[in-house]
Amino acid sequence: MPFAESYKIKMVEHLYRSMKSEREQWIKDARYNLFNLRSGQVFIDLLTDSGTGAMSDLQWSEMMLGDESYAGASSYFKMKEAIRLILGFEYFLPTHQGRAAENVLFSVMVRQGDMVPGNAHFDTTKGHIEFRKATAVDCTIAEAYDTSVYHPFKGNIDLEKLEEFLRTHPREQVPMVIVTITCNTPGGQPVSMENIKGVHALAKKYGIPLLFDGARFAENAYFIKKREPGYEHLTIRDIVKEMMGYADVMTMSSKKDAIVNMGGFIAFREEELFKKASVYNILFEGYITYGGMSGRDMNALAQGLYEGTEFDYLETRVGQVEYLGRLLADYGIPVQQPFGGHAIFVDARKFLLHVPPEQFQAQTLAVELYLEGGVRGVEIGTLLADRDPVTRENRYPKLELMRLTLPRRVYTDNHMNYVATCLKNIWDRRDEIKSGLRIISEAPILRHFTVELERA
Ligand SMILES: *Cc1c(COP(=O)(O)O)cnc(C)c1O
Repeated sequence: MPFAESYKIKMVEHLYRSMKSEREQWIKDARYNLFNLRSGQVFIDLLTDSGTGAMSDLQWSEMMLGDESYAGASSYFKMKEAIRLILGFEYFLPTHQGRAAENVLFSVMVRQGDMVPGNAHFDTTKGHIEFRKATAVDCTIAEAYDTSVYHPFKGNIDLEKLEEFLRTHPREQVPMVIVTITCNTPGGQPVSMENIKGVHALAKKYGIPLLFDGARFAENAYFIKKREPGYEHLTIRDIVKEMMGYADVMTMSSKKDAIVNMGGFIAFREEELFKKASVYNILFEGYITYGGMSGRDMNALAQGLYEGTEFDYLETRVGQVEYLGRLLADYGIPVQQPFGGHAIFVDARKFLLHVPPEQFQAQTLAVELYLEGGVRGVEIGTLLADRDPVTRENRYPKLELMRLTLPRRVYTDNHMNYVATCLKNIWDRRDEIKSGLRIISEAPILRHFTVELERA
């Protein structure tokens, strides 16, 4: 059957197509940091899929039904019901976004000197671990870091490596194992059900709680349905239920797969941990029945959980990412394969061969793409990796990527054609690009957001 979007457009938002001369001035004024641009200076914004999705008519209707009572609002119970039905957790705490969920939960669970193994922890997750003087230990499979090899589940954890780690570290020093689904850092790559089961078995064997960082759990379930034998006939909801059954606790940035502009939560299986975390939630976020969210936002989130786990929606969503990836790959541009669920990751090290690593290849490529067509991508490389907390040297990650992240239900395939053509134009003149950028000033942690750069 031919394929098309499973929705139509009711409202549109105007985009300004700037001139190159304007963009040259703007990016200079922004100190070559794309986070410093005003959105009106961007034509197609692929900075992030976080909170940038288009809500449906049903979600907007839910906004009008929001209950803004301080305690016990019906919106809280709507969200509780959606989390119970879709994810299977009995207890939850709303938070204003994903990192707030991490802050609350890690306040209970992570202590100085702890070690937290997982698959390429997300930057805020790592930030919240390192802020507590603990260490994130990456146990992702080696294939994740080679853009040229195919593996259907590059987000998988290396079970031997994880077991070796758990065997050689005292239980008291390992507060949890974290599985990020899908795994953002190596390219929005999914984790297989088989791997999740394996991690669960190891965590159980060593008596360590298992946390899912579940921002893109629905996209992960879609990949399991598409790629893992035995799951092709199950519904997304059934796969999600099975996946979540292996987790003790889950943190969620609802700005991703719940298709809302702001929001998050922690979901718990056990009442005891929920009660401990509630103390910090009240301290940092708000009372336990709203925790940093408005009633209307909790309503939209609940509706988003239902819509975000529908197969037709996910097929359109992941299909558009694949469409862009296919265009780029056909031009010969080096991209992480297989394509991820929310973004295409361009291998900047293979793209800009003449720019030295210390001049930030992926950031340089992102600036080039902005100048070429007003397209805003984002660096997932050396700037994002921060400096080593001990030596203060740059940490050169295994992959130096420029991410083109697709907002949910926002852009058309024509926009994707435009982006691909812009990048091809740069690809055709890549040998002329010989120098990158250097740092003028930077923050000690999460520096990529505020770093100031100049041309090297
Ligand atoms: C976005 C994200 C977070 C942090 O969530 P925010 O809502 O941005 O605070 C944590 N983990 C993963 C995997 C994410 O994608």
